[in-house]
Amino acid sequence: MIPIKTIHFAIIGAGTAGLATATLLAQQGFQVSIFEKAQHLEPVGAGLLLQPAGLAVFEHLGVLEHACQLGAKVTGLEGQLADGRLLVDSHYHEAGNHYTGLGIHRATLCHVLQTAVNQHRDAITWFMGYDIQQLQESPEQVRLIGQDAQQQPFDAAFDAVIVANGARSQLRPSAWVKIDQPYPWGAAWTIVPECQQFDREILHQFYDTSQIMMGILPTGAIPTASEQRLSSVFWSLPSAQFPHFLKQEQQRELWLSQVSKRWGKAADWLEQVTQTASTTWLSAQYRDVVMSQYGQGRIGVIGDAAHAMSPQLGQGANMALLDAWALSQSVQHSYAQQQLGWAKLWQHYHQLRRSSTFFYQSLSRLLTPLYQSDLRWASRMRDVLFPLMYRIPYFRRQMAITISGFKTNALQQLNYAEIAQSPIAPVLGSAKC
Ligand SMILES: Cc1cc2nc3c(=O)[nH]c(=O)nc-3n(C[C@H](O)[C@H](O)[C@H](O)COP(=O)(O)OP(=O)(O)OC[C@H]3O[C@@H](n4cnc5c(N)ncnc54)[C@H](O)[C@@H]3O)c2cc1C
Repeated sequence: MIPIKTIHFAIIGAGTAGLATATLLAQQGFQVSIFEKAQHLEPVGAGLLLQPAGLAVFEHLGVLEHACQLGAKVTGLEGQLADGRLLVDSHYHEAGNHYTGLGIHRATLCHVLQTAVNQHRDAITWFMGYDIQQLQESPEQVRLIGQDAQQQPFDAAFDAVIVANGARSQLRPSAWVKIDQPYPWGAAWTIVPECQQFDREILHQFYDTSQIMMGILPTGAIPTASEQRLSSVFWSLPSAQFPHFLKQEQQRELWLSQVSKRWGKAADWLEQVTQTASTTWLSAQYRDVVMSQYGQGRIGVIGDAAHAMSPQLGQGANMALLDAWALSQSVQHSYAQQQLGWAKLWQHYHQLRRSSTFFYQSLSRLLTPLYQSDLRWASRMRDVLFPLMYRIPYFRRQMAITISGFKTNALQQLNYAEIAQSPIAPVLGSAKC
């Protein structure tokens, strides 16, 4: 136990998890230093879908309104088979009356969270271009060792460190890592002008067997061009095929005819929006990371660094936000008599996050081969069972709650209002101490 007023957190990684955590710790009155390997925050990546659980954390952070101005409201997810039948038909209102999702460009997500961080300039210090390569923990502190922005050796000590440096983290304590491996399949993605051919408030997916999957996600706008609404297009493929995907015009024609045979309307639209030379397809690879614990002593691991998974359920950024929320709740819980108890903090954090993370990781691992594998029998089973399941109101609702991101296990769930409620008062009595 150490007096709380002297505690200075280092956060490694300025992604979703790191930025949200920095804001919440600063609101609680701590000093925070953010270490980010990139020289500038210019997030590259497809748009993503924030689920109601992630939006509850946005409300808690006070950034929901800002995010909604730029993002795209999403009311549900519809997944079509090649014969036009709906395999997936989940709508957020089935989980909660006012629930919606938000399609958001990564640059917008980063901008919104960065704006929140910058409201705490007195408490938060940025270290851009710092590549942290090693942590050394002692009973009194944790040392960060790496390179600074001029590629000079860097070494500094902090009271506690939150590792939030993404799926490929080399900083998570190796003794806690149970699984750390790449998925054999990933996705090619591109961002194009908004798709108006389909319902603009739905994430549309298209599946044929377990080998063909495509997604069209409403993605809203980026902060520098708020009038231009966008969509993200995903095309699933084995990682080994990334280097060759749509490299020549002939391949594009072949790909479009593959889509056209199954989903003509989607193919017509794709033909228009992907014909310019400026359409760049990039690849996204997935990782599977499972840990036995997320924190101990003065080190915690959150976000993808703690539980990277396939984005089949679209939960990664939501889980990163829930981690940030749970960490700040645990800090509050473990603060007593001017002291912060690390053991109590991590015990509470594990209570809040362990079973929910286990639920989503297990489900994601179970479902991913039904959509991204060579197991044709698995997709045949999927095509029979899913439509049956959607006919039973109990399962429809459970599916909607699952996609909303609130599940803590098969039978229990978190509550939007509890997460969204205003941040707790600074533990120091004044956020500026
Ligand atoms: C194709 C695809 C689609 C997805 N769709 C969704 C979706 O619809 N909904 C959803 O919720 N999630 C989705 N996800 C998952 C989501 O993107 C991630 O779960 C989320 O971005 C993780 O955030 P993070 O902060 O943990 O990590 P990151 O965003 O990866 O941030 C880590 C940061 O750490 C920095 N860093 C790395 N190493 C170091 C170091 N040594 N020193 C200092 N800094 C370092 C990096 O530069 C980076 O800025 C998707 C992922 C993919 C690939």
